[in-house]
Amino acid sequence: MSAEDHIVIVGAGPTGLGAAWRLHELGYNNWTLIDAADYAGGLATSVVDEQGFTWDLGGHVLFSHYKYFDQLMDQALGDDWLEHIREAWVWMRERWVPYPFQNNIWRLPESDLIPCLDGLLEVYRAANTDKPDTFREWLLQSFGQGLCDTFMFPYNYKVWAYRPEKMNVEWMGERVAEVDLSRVIRNLVKKQDDVSWGPNATFRFPLHGGTGAIWRSISDQLPAGGVKYGAAVKRIDPDKKKITLEDGESLEYDKLISTIPLDQLLLLLADKPHLSRRASEFVYSSTHVVGIGLDGKVPDELATKCWIYFPESNSPFYRVTVFSNYSPNNVARPGKQWSLMCEISESPDKPVNTETIVNETVSGLLACRLINKEHVIVSRWHKRLEYGYPTPWYGRDAVLSDINMQLTAMNIYSRGRFGAWKYEVSNQDHSVMQGVEIVNHILQDKKEKTFYGDMSDD
Ligand SMILES: Cc1cc2nc3c(=O)[nH]c(=O)nc-3n(C[C@H](O)[C@H](O)[C@H](O)COP(=O)(O)OP(=O)(O)OC[C@H]3O[C@@H](n4cnc5c(N)ncnc54)[C@H](O)[C@@H]3O)c2cc1C
Repeated sequence: MSAEDHIVIVGAGPTGLGAAWRLHELGYNNWTLIDAADYAGGLATSVVDEQGFTWDLGGHVLFSHYKYFDQLMDQALGDDWLEHIREAWVWMRERWVPYPFQNNIWRLPESDLIPCLDGLLEVYRAANTDKPDTFREWLLQSFGQGLCDTFMFPYNYKVWAYRPEKMNVEWMGERVAEVDLSRVIRNLVKKQDDVSWGPNATFRFPLHGGTGAIWRSISDQLPAGGVKYGAAVKRIDPDKKKITLEDGESLEYDKLISTIPLDQLLLLLADKPHLSRRASEFVYSSTHVVGIGLDGKVPDELATKCWIYFPESNSPFYRVTVFSNYSPNNVARPGKQWSLMCEISESPDKPVNTETIVNETVSGLLACRLINKEHVIVSRWHKRLEYGYPTPWYGRDAVLSDINMQLTAMNIYSRGRFGAWKYEVSNQDHSVMQGVEIVNHILQDKKEKTFYGDMSDD
């Protein structure tokens, strides 16, 4: 690698911005960051709708596994943050159950509680140490049949839009979902809740501008000449190391860091049909985000809740975020309005009708009693994300490792949420660090960690 080498980064989401930030920080000037969109942030951007409500593209909660990422967040927004206690709930059987669900099953009706307990006891009795093969087997082995039938199976289908037998277990890493049976029983006897239990009990959120404010600020702090928006890549010639943009302009690279969906990258590779052909092997789900803005004050029952999970079929959404609780500025008239942000998954196995999804969402909110007929809805905002969740499909890792080996040989590094296609390292902190670490690797020959699933901090 010489200082003359041109590094091109495609995509100005958290991964691409992390890479550009690191290059700038190291004083390396010969780089270009391009994005098809005319704004920064990718999937972590925010939108203001016609009624003045701010929305993220799905519930973005900022957790961090890294000191570097924490410092970057300080650098992005200084003191313009609010700190929240994470309060997650499940709504089912016409009642609230705090999350983590398994610790609070005492709240369930007897007809659910008994099979859940039977299943948990069976898990303990069997003490099965066989390595599960699919996500379904992992769920059963970890939680037992009762908890799976009551919550894990229906909820996971709603989130992933695929049945768990289609998914692998590699993404779970070495994680073992130990259910603390004595805690479950203690909570049951004492009728006591575990709310905000476990790691990551607090998180911060931008006071102004939604999650997207972070990435706008990071982009603004980079040298303007290095960043180019509204520039969609149409073709990549890995032999000539040349990128062609939609407007016909071309640019040459020595190293290419791509953060666009990996299947799309393969389709852009000119004269590499053996790679382009493999795009169809990738499995993902799309996400519909429906924002409902309301006049009035947030109901007392929702006043401290962050987000709520919905495993039942009486609503299309798997999760609703009480988005006005994250910042008063997420509504047009702070203190006089409130907002709910709902997420719905879609896949070939779980189709969604785009025409009717907003009405279905409102009906679901009524059925789940988050709103009632008296509430005044002033905004209905809808966005469909073609790429929502990179599915950890069964057989994923062999495909990824083969394709990455071939890309690396061509000086192309595909990183990020859909660039790496590894859900387990696809949040904003992981994405930034994938960008930072690939730059450290290219310039300093340091070994990457996050891309390989290692989240230990230095
Ligand atoms: C529903 C949902 C919920 C989420 N919840 C959380 C959460 O709670 N916490 C959290 O930390 N993270 C969350 N995330 C993940 C977060 O959005 C990602 O970590 C992050 O956006 C990934 O960044 P990235 O840069 O890898 O990819 P992206 O953000 O996808 O950026 C890729 C960029 O590439 C550009 N691009 C694509 N094709 C081309 C092309 N041909 N030419 C040029 N540019 C192109 C796109 O315009 C885009 O800007 C969530 C994501 C979703 C969808």
